[in-house]
Amino acid sequence: MPEGHSVHRITRQFERNFVGHVVHASSPQGRFAVGAAEIDGRRMIDARAVGKQMFLGFEGDVWLRVHLGMYGAWDFAGDILMDATIASANGRMGQTNQRGTFLDAPNPDAVVFDSAGENSLHSIGAPRKTRLRMSESEKEGNGLDTFPPEPIGQVRVRLLTDTICADLRGPTACEVLDPAQVEATVAKLGPDPLLDPGKGAEERFTSVVRKKPTPIGLLLMDQNVVAGIGNVYRAELLFRARLNPHTPGRQVPEELVRGLWRDWAKLLRIGVETGQMMTMDDLDPEAYRAAMASRDDRHWVYKREGLPCRVCGTNIVLEEMAARKLYWCPSCQA
Ligand SMILES: [Zn+2]
Repeated sequence: MPEGHSVHRITRQFERNFVGHVVHASSPQGRFAVGAAEIDGRRMIDARAVGKQMFLGFEGDVWLRVHLGMYGAWDFAGDILMDATIASANGRMGQTNQRGTFLDAPNPDAVVFDSAGENSLHSIGAPRKTRLRMSESEKEGNGLDTFPPEPIGQVRVRLLTDTICADLRGPTACEVLDPAQVEATVAKLGPDPLLDPGKGAEERFTSVVRKKPTPIGLLLMDQNVVAGIGNVYRAELLFRARLNPHTPGRQVPEELVRGLWRDWAKLLRIGVETGQMMTMDDLDPEAYRAAMASRDDRHWVYKREGLPCRVCGTNIVLEEMAARKLYWCPSCQA
């Protein structure tokens, strides 16, 4: 499932490419025809990420809320301007890829792309290795033959300007809201460190966690406690803090709770910049390249069940916690 970093990256691409432009909206699949008609022809004026949700604002107090859920993804095609904050750590600049051309890319060599395409810039969301995507690239060859491209598959909504096209497939939520509904939705969500970098958000997170009897492993996944953390970051944050996932929130020492918040803020920033859930620090250049290229080399515990802990050698454990897979080291996180 796409975690908070992906949604921030998508939002930055919308800020750079769509905000300020009149957008043509349609629902090639038909399921969002009414919503698309409400947006069609309006100028996009805002793009915000809060945790795993994205809010696109249009003139006339119309908002589009999107939650990608497990399977959602955005595909960008056309002339894609890259946001500087993600361009600095990512590349493929100046190169043509199957679905578009990146026009302004400062540093083509500083980048390592993930073998599974996790940090792609033209498709952000649930990683897909489907026939759908294969057939797209086979068809298109190098560059776009026509713009906009024919919609392929179940495109819930297509947002289009003169130069760029964004297709949304498979979201959990895609709906039009008014400003009061946006405010109510955001108010229910926990803090997001990229949105609230101040001390207040840390206080809010700390005081909520310290009141709850709920295991910290569940609290980190609760979007009303902290927005944006999913299964990968949950496991990795707990390992980095050497914290047992079953510890009730109210029994986690205050300094450790604050440490979790600050570490999440740090990992989220790295995730937005690199496009990957890089959770290991202090790697030498060779190890860093390996970790960027392959998920097997960039996590402490996630998907490492049965393998020896990188720190103590104990086998990493996999258990179900509230129907989600939880990975941890029973020795380091005793
Ligand atoms: Zn260990």
